[in-house]
Amino acid sequence: MTGLRFDNAFTRELPADPDTHLASRQVSGAAFSWVEPTPVAAPRIVAVSGEVAAMLGIDPARPDFAEIFAGNASIPGMTGYAMAYGGHQFGHWAGQLGDGRAIGLGEVLTAHDGRQELQLKGAGRTPYSRGADGRAVLRSSIREFLCSEAMHHLGVPTTRALSVVATGDQVVRDVMYDGNPAPEPGAIVCRVAPSFLRFGNYELPSSRGDTALLRQLVDFTVRTHFPAIDALPEAERNAAFFREVSTRTARLMAEWMRVGFVHGVMNTDNLSILGLTIDYGPYGWIDDFNPDWTPNTTDRQHRRYRFGNQPQIGYWNLQALAQALSPLFDSAEPLQRGLDAYVETFEATDAAYSAAKLGLLHARDGDDELIADLRGVLTAGGMDMTIFYRDLASLDVHAPHAGVLGAAFYSEAQRVAVSEPLDAWLKQYAQRVREDEASEGERLALMHASNPRYVLRNYLAQQAIDKAEQGDNSGVTELLEVLRYPYEAQPGKDHLAGRRPDWARDRVGCSMLSCCS
Ligand code: AMP
Ligand code: MG
Repeated sequence: MTGLRFDNAFTRELPADPDTHLASRQVSGAAFSWVEPTPVAAPRIVAVSGEVAAMLGIDPARPDFAEIFAGNASIPGMTGYAMAYGGHQFGHWAGQLGDGRAIGLGEVLTAHDGRQELQLKGAGRTPYSRGADGRAVLRSSIREFLCSEAMHHLGVPTTRALSVVATGDQVVRDVMYDGNPAPEPGAIVCRVAPSFLRFGNYELPSSRGDTALLRQLVDFTVRTHFPAIDALPEAERNAAFFREVSTRTARLMAEWMRVGFVHGVMNTDNLSILGLTIDYGPYGWIDDFNPDWTPNTTDRQHRRYRFGNQPQIGYWNLQALAQALSPLFDSAEPLQRGLDAYVETFEATDAAYSAAKLGLLHARDGDDELIADLRGVLTAGGMDMTIFYRDLASLDVHAPHAGVLGAAFYSEAQRVAVSEPLDAWLKQYAQRVREDEASEGERLALMHASNPRYVLRNYLAQQAIDKAEQGDNSGVTELLEVLRYPYEAQPGKDHLAGRRPDWARDRVGCSMLSCCS
């Protein structure tokens, strides 16, 4: 680790909060506050991503690894800070939020993967903790660790995770917010990304009329993270910046819809300016196909962040960002063009991904309808999304028969109820495939590369967590390893590719998650 090269541009180039006290407060005129992690009792490694360690040039076997990534020890070049940001939560402006339990450690210049910022989530209180404890529990830390690595290997832009370290301290949480607080083991994830900047970082100074800080933040972001557009004249550069954020967000939404990921809390403080999946909280994976599903019990009533609504929310959040950036623009027109680019990019990407999932080389007229019809049939039959698409590749397009899709059904009644429309759809689909220019081999390759066999089903994560809470980390390690190759059939791993078992349907942690983490 002596070879780690830190280059802490964010804290070097942006204004710091002059107050270094820990007390919760409003912080204005500053992009961050200096704050060091609060030591924990007895750090113990739960899991390390070997790939992220290699990317950073860190030896996971070094004896002080657990101490460093629990925040008890530091290495030269590291410096602790918490970012100031605000956000719209569930559609309403919430004012200042900020890193209430995440503490940045600095930015590493890697050999092959550019700048990578390190951040400890759950490392203790900061000026942004707002009365909360600054800690995180083991279950949510394992969920974040596993899912960010799984998403990376699925090809979905995401923050990554180096490690989960159990702290040896207990953290008290009232999981279902029903007046039953209980102690749980605490943990800290070391997250890794080129930057953790969120829409909310720009919204906060803008909400206070601090255009100077807003401009500094945008200048910094473009210079450091969007160098390709940095040389443009300022007005054009700002327009290109918003457009780039919009198109990245559009592609991210298309990716989430492709793999069946539901973020759960798409508040503007949880949307990355780099278009990465960020802040894994009460997220979930679609088992039985249902566009109205959300894993987040806190959102159960309005289902704002349900699966099928994510593309709309991406747009809503970009509107909030556009509003925040508007003091840097002479007219709203370039911002509107950025929003239009979001819609175009989402529609084109989603159409291309949807066609690829069906093994169609190029989308053509009529495919929209074919895809919409399929979503209707999947919703009506509640088939398992992952299994259905994966098994669809085995369909004999010269004699289509729903038999190959049997494993995707959650009940016999649903299978019978949907058998007629499914047969009709399969016939149409088979004909479309026969007319496609793709060869059989090309079609299968495309389908296998677009439809994962392994995703981090909610119940699988929960089973690994249950074991880890008993001190057995083997479930976490097994999932980490299998999810590195989500598109490949892996011998002996069928038990990780099946339908969600019945017992998991309504279990807390498996299909119902609160924001409490
Ligand atoms: P989230 O919904 O997890 O994205 O968090 C929203 C805000 O609450 C962010 O500002 C977090 O830093 C803060 N927060 C969440 N949990 C804690 C905690 N245990 N201690 C301090 N701040 C927290
Ligand atoms: Mg957050």
